[in-house]
Amino acid sequence: MMTKQTGRVYLVGAGPGDPGLLTVKGMECVRKADVIVYDRLVHPSILDHARADAELIYVGKASSAHTMKQEDINQLLVDKAKKGKTVTRLKGGDPFVFGRGGEEAETLVEAGIEWEEVPGVTSAIAAPAYAGIPVTHRDCCSALGIITGHEKGEESRIRWDKIATGLDTLVFLMGVENLPNIATQLTANGREPSTPVALVRWGTRSEQETLVGTLADIVEKVQSSGFKSPAVTVVGEVVNLREKLRWFDNRPLFGKKVLVTRSRDQASELSELLREQGAEPIEFPVIRIAPPESFDELDAALDRIASYDWILFTSANAVRATIDRLKQLGRDVRSLRGPKIGAIGPATAESIACLGVRVDFTPSKFVAESVVEEFPEDPAGKRILIPGAKDAREVLPEKLREKGAQVDVVASYQTEIEESCAPPIKEMLERGEIDIITFTSSSTVKNFVQLVGRESIPVGVTIACIGPITAQTAEEHGLHPDIVAEDYTIKGLVKALMERVGVSAG
Ligand code: SAH
Repeated sequence: MMTKQTGRVYLVGAGPGDPGLLTVKGMECVRKADVIVYDRLVHPSILDHARADAELIYVGKASSAHTMKQEDINQLLVDKAKKGKTVTRLKGGDPFVFGRGGEEAETLVEAGIEWEEVPGVTSAIAAPAYAGIPVTHRDCCSALGIITGHEKGEESRIRWDKIATGLDTLVFLMGVENLPNIATQLTANGREPSTPVALVRWGTRSEQETLVGTLADIVEKVQSSGFKSPAVTVVGEVVNLREKLRWFDNRPLFGKKVLVTRSRDQASELSELLREQGAEPIEFPVIRIAPPESFDELDAALDRIASYDWILFTSANAVRATIDRLKQLGRDVRSLRGPKIGAIGPATAESIACLGVRVDFTPSKFVAESVVEEFPEDPAGKRILIPGAKDAREVLPEKLREKGAQVDVVASYQTEIEESCAPPIKEMLERGEIDIITFTSSSTVKNFVQLVGRESIPVGVTIACIGPITAQTAEEHGLHPDIVAEDYTIKGLVKALMERVGVSAG
C-alpha cells in the first residue's frame, strides 16, 4: 500500500484589511487550499476565493472564549498536513510581524512538515499609509521602529530609554489599551510631549478611523472619543504629513457600504467605480443570466439574418448571448453580415466594438423615444431584429412598429432570480451593514423585493436607481428611491451618489 503523502502548510499574510492588498502568491494559496485556518483580522471577502469544498476553520476572536489556544492552532496545522492536506494559514498583515508566525513555523519544522511563508502587507505600514502618513520621509524620519504595545511593567523587554529618542518614527501594534503607559514611557525617556501621534483603526478598510493628537494629549483624546482597537499608533513628525497627503478617507463615498444587485458578470464595472470613490461595494447579484427556454426563435432569425435591415442590441447581455449562440452553432460574428447594427447604451456599444464590429447607430439617450426619433433612416418598411431578454419591455418594438417598421423580438437569454443571496443580504441589512442599495434595472428591483422583502430595509438606507424606469418599478413595489441618476448609465449612477451622499455633500 502506498503511504499517504504529507501536505504542505503555507503561512500567508492576508494583508491589513483591503482585500486588494493580499499578494498574488497569497491568493494562489487561498485558491488551492484544502483547509484554510484564519484569524479575526482577515477580511471575510478573501475567503470568497477559497474552493467551494475547502474546509474553513476560524481560530481567532480577540479577547473572547472562542479563541483557539496557540498550541492548539499549531497542532491543528500539523494534524491537517499529516492527513495530506494543503493548508493555508491566513493571518492578518504579515505573519512574521507580531503574528506568531515564527512560533507556528517552528512547530512545523519540528514536526517535519513542509511549509512556506508568504509575506503580507503589514498594518504597521499600510494603516498609516491609508491615513496619509508615510512612515519614513527624507525630511524628518530616517529610522523606523515597529514595537509591540502589549508589553507592560517589569517583564517588558522594550528599551524605552533607547527607543524614545533613538528612532524617528515609532509604530505600536496592539497598543490602544496600553497607550497611557506608552505615552508616559516615551515622555519620561526624553521624547517631546508635543510629538505628534496618530491612531489608525481598521486601517485600509472602509471603517477606517483616524485620531490625531500629541504625546501630551492623545490619551485624553482616546478616552473622550471612545476610540478602540484594533489600531496602530504612529508616533513622530511624519504624522504631520497627513494634512497634505490624506488620500483615502477623504474620498467622496468613503466608508459607504453599497449593495450591488446586478448580475455577477455585470457587477464589476459598478463595483470598480464605487471603489474608486472610496465606497465598499458588496456584491450580491439578485439576478443571473441564463439561456432562454428555447433557442428556436433566435436560431431562425440568425438563419435569415440577411433579410433584416437592422439588428438592435439593447444590452451587453444581448450581444454576448447572441455571439455565444453563434459559437454554439459553429458560426461567428461574420454571419451577422448584412444588416446595420444599432446599440442602445454605451456599454452595449462597447461590447459590440470589442468584437471588432462597427456600430452604425447609438441614440444619445437610452430610452425608446430617442431611439425612434434619432433613427438614422425612416423606419417605415424596415425589417428590424431585436435579440433581447425573454421578458424585455415591449416599448421599443411598439414605438418602431408605430412608425411602420417590421420588428422581430427574439429571446436570446433570460434572467433568473438568484435565491442564494437572500439570507446574507437580510443579515447585513439587519446588522446595519449596508448604507446604500443600488438598482440598475427593473428586474433587480423585482427580484430584490421578492427575495428580501421591502420590510427588511431599515430606515435610513439610501435607495438609488439607475434611471426613471427602474425608479418607477421601485415605486410600484413600495420602495421609495432617494436617488435617480440623470444620466442612465453606471457612471451616471455613481455620479449621482457622489453628489447626493458624498462626504463633502454632508
Ligand atoms: N501581523 C499583523 C499584526 C498582528 S498583531 C500585521 O502585520 O499587521 C494585531 C495588531 O495589528 C492589532 O492590535 C493592531 O494594532 C494591528 N492591526 C492589524 N490590522 C490592522 C488594521 N487594519 N488597522 C489597524 N491596526 C491593525
